[in-house]
Amino acid sequence: MSCAAAANDSARGDFQLLFDGCGDRWAMENHPEWFTVNRNGNSTLDVPPYVDYYRWVCPTRAPVREYLNGLIGEVAADDRIDGVHLDYIRHSDVILPRGLWDKYDLIQDVEHPEFDYCYCDVCRGTFEAEHGIDPMTLDDPPSNEAWVRFRWDSVTRLVTELTETVHSYDKPISAAVFPGPSLARRLVRQSWDEWPVDMLFPMLYNSFYLEDLEWIGAMTSEGVTAVTRSGATLRSGLYLPDLTPRQLAEAIRVSRNAGAAGVSTFEMNGLTDEHLAVIRAAL
Ligand SMILES: [Zn+2]
Repeated sequence: MSCAAAANDSARGDFQLLFDGCGDRWAMENHPEWFTVNRNGNSTLDVPPYVDYYRWVCPTRAPVREYLNGLIGEVAADDRIDGVHLDYIRHSDVILPRGLWDKYDLIQDVEHPEFDYCYCDVCRGTFEAEHGIDPMTLDDPPSNEAWVRFRWDSVTRLVTELTETVHSYDKPISAAVFPGPSLARRLVRQSWDEWPVDMLFPMLYNSFYLEDLEWIGAMTSEGVTAVTRSGATLRSGLYLPDLTPRQLAEAIRVSRNAGAAGVSTFEMNGLTDEHLAVIRAAL
């Protein structure tokens, strides 16, 4: 979980302030042990991957979950807040979307140790207690199904607890997630079809994956089928800066045909009057 998150639109300012002013710096100064550690033994606190703000706290740690629950509970208890939206509710990218490899000068056709999290003491100890082996000593950690599942479940447990907190105030909770869930599992360890949240907003940024608009439909369809059991509704997340108004219309069409409950748009600075006209027409 990154120390960055947002509540719904009406509360975005308050919640960001809460995390940026209290969570991030406070955790860095008071709990350096909370930050995730990669297979090389480096903490995101000291060696953030990809970009210098990428510092992540470990969901396996009970004090981390208690801390985040406290923050989310404070937000959800506020009468002015209608609901809570989670972002960065995952591990750091073990593999970046294919379209970003060039930007970072990387070839990520395997899980490289410097991007593979979390091997902190608590994750290693908890997994060893459950499975009899320290994951750091596995011959090929990415191929160990139990170790992969452990990281998915660790995130899912946090989401489940946060959902219980928000629901205790009779308010909905949603999350922005990676595409899939097949890709989300592989890239960022989100098995979001197993999450009890009310709404999901998969970020179907086709250009990041070097894919076309039909891919948005395929990913929407996979997601809609995957959440049948959890009962969450799914709204395809469309990345406006890379969609012309005509492409936006097509992306809305394929999303609807694939069974999405709606669409959401990301990157408000990319919203033009022409995009708005397309959205009005679609409604
Ligand atoms: Zn950990």
